[in-house]
Amino acid sequence: MHLYALGNDEKVIYAGHADKHINYICLECAQVVRLRSGFHRQAHFYHLQPNHKCRLNGKSMSHLMLQHYLESVLPKGEVQLEHRFPLIQRIADVAWITEKIIFEVQCSPISAAEVLQRNADYASQGYQVVWLLHENRYNQKRLSAAEDALKCFPHYFSNMDAEGKGDVFDQLSFAVQGMRKQYLSKLLIDVSKPHRKLHVDQLSLPQIIAERLETWPVCFRGDYVYLCHEKASDIELLKVFLDAIFLAETQWRVDFDRGIMELSLWNFFKKIYVNYLAFSYRSVLRLILEKASR
Ligand SMILES: [Zn+2]
Repeated sequence: MHLYALGNDEKVIYAGHADKHINYICLECAQVVRLRSGFHRQAHFYHLQPNHKCRLNGKSMSHLMLQHYLESVLPKGEVQLEHRFPLIQRIADVAWITEKIIFEVQCSPISAAEVLQRNADYASQGYQVVWLLHENRYNQKRLSAAEDALKCFPHYFSNMDAEGKGDVFDQLSFAVQGMRKQYLSKLLIDVSKPHRKLHVDQLSLPQIIAERLETWPVCFRGDYVYLCHEKASDIELLKVFLDAIFLAETQWRVDFDRGIMELSLWNFFKKIYVNYLAFSYRSVLRLILEKASR
């Protein structure tokens, strides 16, 4: 399924403006596509002859709805869906031209290598990729290789369904040996409000958020970094810290259990390190509580 195709005049046409029973050309594989639409269905193109090799073929209705959602909330005239980058032979799901941001919607499996290659390809064109991973496949108990590879790159999650109901949200989680042990709260993000430089006192941050601040070139209003920046005295931050303490303690327990099994100097130092972190969160938490109760 896809939203754009080439018309007979060689111009790109949006499914909402196309006609049924006319042949159009797939932007990706150049084969014939036709329009499909209905009262309850988002208008889209489909391959007349199923082509499983075509990337656009694998797009689900949730994928289309998420693309549509992004187009509706991002500034008009600054965004292009299915934007072509001929030099790197890629078609971006959503390109925010003025901000030089690509939103890549990912509902199907993808390898870590492909994720990193796309990041590099778009970077060569001056664009930063922000990944939106669908909950149907990602943010699950088992951390995928792609999610692991994306730790140091901007990515969020979505639960958008085929009717277009759902959100884009940030969710931190803590994984041990590829299994998620603990989730922090879901925070809804505003994809139309990117922030490239937020100054947050790193010492006061939970480690998991400090790492992100250091590695992600862009974050968005509402996400964990933004929350720590904007609402330092707010009750919501309290929640973040509480969660972080819980997380650090979970890590400590896991390390401790494993440490008994394989006692090594490394584990010993890691235990002390994590425990120290949990201790410093507690001090900050106490300060906030004292301040709030005054
Ligand atoms: Zn195709």
